[in-house]
Order: sequence, then structure tokens, then C-alpha cells
Amino acid sequence: MTRPSRIVPDVDFDKDGRQHGFLRLFHSTHASAYGYIPIPVVVLKNGSGPTALFTSATHGDEYEGQIALCNLVRNLDPARIRGRVIILPAHNLPAAVAGRRVSPIDDGNLNRLFPGDPDGTVTQQIAHFTESVLLPKADIACDLHSGGSSLNYVPCALIRRVADETLLKRQLAALRAFGAPLAYIATGGGGSGANHTQSGGAERHGVTMIGTELGGAGTLNRHGLEIAERGLNNLLVHAGILPESDRIASPETRILDVGGADYYVHSPEAGVLEPVVELGDTVEAGQLAARLHTPETPWLPPVEVRFPRGGFVLCKRIPARTQRGDCLFHIGTDSAL
Ligand code: CA
Repeated sequence: MTRPSRIVPDVDFDKDGRQHGFLRLFHSTHASAYGYIPIPVVVLKNGSGPTALFTSATHGDEYEGQIALCNLVRNLDPARIRGRVIILPAHNLPAAVAGRRVSPIDDGNLNRLFPGDPDGTVTQQIAHFTESVLLPKADIACDLHSGGSSLNYVPCALIRRVADETLLKRQLAALRAFGAPLAYIATGGGGSGANHTQSGGAERHGVTMIGTELGGAGTLNRHGLEIAERGLNNLLVHAGILPESDRIASPETRILDVGGADYYVHSPEAGVLEPVVELGDTVEAGQLAARLHTPETPWLPPVEVRFPRGGFVLCKRIPARTQRGDCLFHIGTDSAL
């Protein structure tokens, strides 16, 4: 038995032209008994055709996608498109406003709560609306991420290695059309519980979905923003929503695999992190990745952390104070796909 979403959109997804409004997520609190959380949504539609779904601030402390989608909302002329574009620049609005990865209301990580729950917490209700209302309308989707406050990335795009070969081919074609200089295929999950991510939802609905990691460190990476703006435009061309003449020239995409546990370096101890490699470096198996110092016991030697396998350094941890189990780096290796 499927229970319907309790979220009330004040836009009509089937109406032509440009509409903006809110998804009203009713949330009764001490300060606001009958209030709702206003998640902004923009719908651009012109006749029949494919539908693209663009989201950002699924993690609220990732900013390139939010700015790229704000710019797209203002600049995309519905008269120039064929089909429909649905845009949610502040997908997890409470997290976006707080500038935090997770919601300050329920600590909900929107990209770990799919397929959601219509009667669950605020963040579970958002996941459920996207899974049950938005993804079924979409042919192609892009959820714009970055590394957030604790990680930084070489700006890149990504897809999930889905089981269905036809869908995988469609995702690869979309990834190349997006035109980021660098991309990766997430093949191992990295402990994210892939079925509970938005891309897991897209796979359940057969939607061609790509993601991004446009920078991170809780700030704005201008190069990442440029990649996002060109990529979204080219994705709309690829989908047939914008005309071929709108395509912006982009570089060939270098595609990496990010596999299982040995692609990740996790901290074996608590301490102060001294990274000894940089983003974009190529490393070898066994190479020193970082030292962990303990100023609390300065007479002890630092703990050395090494890469389990070689590859390209895609991602690194930002805060120096580190706990055992924190992710320090992850790498990618050139893909055969
Ligand atoms: Ca993220």
C-alpha cells in the first residue's frame, strides 16, 4: 500500500510557461502551529517533451549547484525549451538555510533517506516527495553536490554504476554530454547505502541520473560553478529540451572508477591531520597519505597513514582535527568504460 505525500505544491507541474512557488511541508512547532516549510520550486514547461529534474542543496553546505540553479531559474526562457524543467535549488531547505549538510530540524541527511516516508520526519517527507512525485515525472536528473564542510573535491561529475546495462549506457552518454573535464563512476558505494540515495531513487524509476562533486570545504569553487553551468545547459541539449545550437563546447571527459573500500583512506586514530599529498596528485599503493599528530602527547611519534592502492587523488578531508573513522582521502583509477 503506497501512502501519498502530505506535501502540497503550489505550482501545477502540467501547466505551460514559467511558474515559481513552494512545496508546502506542513510542520507544526511551538513557534508556528499551522506553519509550513516553504521548499522553493520552479517549473518551466513548453508543450510535450522530456522532463529534466535539477536539484541542489540536497546537502545544505554545498554551494556551486545552488548558485548554478539560481542562475538557471532566472535565465532559462521557457519559450526556448521543448518539454519541462523542474528545478529545486534548495532541496533540503532547512539544511540549506543553516548552511549544514544535514537538517537542523531532525538531523536528516536527505541523500541517505530515500525512498523516504510520507509520515516520517521532515527530511524523510522531502525524500518521499522526490521519490514518489518528482522522479516519476523525470526522464533525466542531475543532483548537484560538492564535498560539503568536511571534504574537498577536484571538481567533477559522476554516475552510479547501475545494474541495468541500458540505463548505464544512458548515464554514460549523459555524463559525457555534461562535459566536466573529470568524472567518476561510483562502483563500490563507499558505505553510502546507495539504495538510500537520490540516485538509488532514480535507478528505481529508470531515470538517467548524473551527479557532481564540484568542490567543497564549505565554500564556492568558481571553476566548479563554471562546470555546473555549462554542464546543465549541455544536459538540456542532450535531453532534447534545448536545441542543438545551444550546446557549449566542452572538453573530453576523463572517466575514473571509484570502487570499494581500498579506494578510501579512513583515519586509524584521532589526531591533528597533516596531509602530505594534494588534490589531483597521482599516488602509488603504499605511499604516505598523511600523518596524525597528537599534541596532547607530543612525545609520541605521529601515526603514518598510507594509500591502500594507487590512483588519482579526487577528494581530501578539510578539518585538521580528526577522529578515528573519518574519511581522509578517496582516489579514482582510470575506467575501462
Ligand atoms: Ca554531498
